[in-house]
Amino acid sequence: MSIDFTLTAAQQKLQRNAREFSVEILQPVVAKADEERDPQKAFMLMKGAYLESYKLGFATGFLPREYGGGGISNLDLQIVAEEITAVDPGFATVLLVNGLALMPLVWFGSEAQKKKWLVQATSDPRGEYLAGWTVSEPVDETGGTANFDHPGARPAGIGLVATHDRSRGEYVLNGKKYWPCNAGGWDLMGADVNVCIVRTDPAKGGQKGLSAIVVPRGTAGISYGEPISKLGHRLCQNNAITFTDCRVPEENLFAVGDGDLVISKAFTWSGPVAAIAAVGVARSAYEFALQWSKTRSAGGGMPMIHHQAVGYMLADIAMKIEACRAFSWKSAHYLDQFDSDGHAVGAMAKVFCGETLFTTVFRALQVMGVNALDRQHPMEKFLREAAVFPLYDAGNIGMQMRKIWGVMLDEKFDPRAIADSRPMPFQKSMESAGALVPQHSDAKAR
Ligand SMILES: Cc1cc2nc3c(=O)[nH]c(=O)nc-3n(C[C@H](O)[C@H](O)[C@H](O)COP(=O)(O)OP(=O)(O)OC[C@H]3O[C@@H](n4cnc5c(N)ncnc54)[C@H](O)[C@@H]3O)c2cc1C
Repeated sequence: MSIDFTLTAAQQKLQRNAREFSVEILQPVVAKADEERDPQKAFMLMKGAYLESYKLGFATGFLPREYGGGGISNLDLQIVAEEITAVDPGFATVLLVNGLALMPLVWFGSEAQKKKWLVQATSDPRGEYLAGWTVSEPVDETGGTANFDHPGARPAGIGLVATHDRSRGEYVLNGKKYWPCNAGGWDLMGADVNVCIVRTDPAKGGQKGLSAIVVPRGTAGISYGEPISKLGHRLCQNNAITFTDCRVPEENLFAVGDGDLVISKAFTWSGPVAAIAAVGVARSAYEFALQWSKTRSAGGGMPMIHHQAVGYMLADIAMKIEACRAFSWKSAHYLDQFDSDGHAVGAMAKVFCGETLFTTVFRALQVMGVNALDRQHPMEKFLREAAVFPLYDAGNIGMQMRKIWGVMLDEKFDPRAIADSRPMPFQKSMESAGALVPQHSDAKAR
């Protein structure tokens, strides 16, 4: 039987473990940490839960077994992620970002780099290992994130510059990053490693001039500002980072000239995870609103669910959650088949589920009525969490939709490839869709 949504015994066990961890270890610490105004203190409050998750293999389970990881598939990751995000998607993001940082080494790193950095990640005796995925930059004249693949030289695109000092065998990093998760580590002195996207050739555009480099904790020339205080996903740490003459050994560089492909593939791998994260939050909002509507009458003599308007809204929410879960699983399955080269479907799942379920969570608030706004209930937190999905993990407008569009623009685009599970290899020619090149630069170029 080739299509079957039944979980295997091993997947059921994974789901049980993830559910137990989420309810027994994570849930008790979430409310206090979410209320904490200082984002670094909030992050620190999650350290105990993180240590437990590391022991259970959730922090590095997606890495290949040969480097000490759990070797779990993208589909298995869906099962774990739904359970954790149903309790707190910010904490789940800490785990996800380890993958965003380290999976690029799996795909693009040399064997020596994999042995060195991946084994370190999976064999931390303290169990507190963190990896930062360091791509996003402040939105200003000399940086940006959505336009990482812009064909123009600097200042278009990524602005963290890595200059090769051949005499000392090092790259020298100068510039800023803004938003990277985990990057500051537990003490704001740095994650164990930061995998940074850098401009190794500022004269070239984003399709030729970017690379990735591993910056280990303790490297001089990096300062971490106060983490960003966010509307939702408050339990993960997002950093403001400044690099000033930061020297990194040249053997830490990888994906030379292909940093664009690293960004595109990493944010494809995370697409189905972000999609199921939206399912997790919507599921919790739905279950709370359902229970509320079955146990409160609002003075109408019968529980609210007996009003047809309320019943229809609940039915609408339930349908959308089921549809989004199926799409998330399908996209994860596609990624499993093609070594995470499923750029269009990964992005589609992320965009569709994040946006569909944001409105669904709002509907759940309407089912409940004004009491949804009372902070003694969890609904306002669900709404804040849901608002993050269309914006983070490569924003839907500036990055993920552009990626889907870029794949479709290719003359060999196969509109049935996803349904028929056929490969659609991603290529550089599919990047830069819609990049705007100012008129005056054209004139100069001529
Ligand atoms: C909880 C959380 C965790 C995160 N973790 C990380 C992390 O670990 N590492 C990391 O590097 N980043 C991280 N980020 C940042 C995140 O990945 C963002 O998606 C990324 O910064 C890009 O944001 P953006 O799409 O809004 O792009 P921006 O560059 O800020 O663009 C802003 C807006 O401009 C418009 N726009 C710009 N260019 C175009 C274009 N070419 N076409 C169409 N519209 C355009 C769009 O409306 C877009 O939404 C995180 C963010 C959050 C909230």
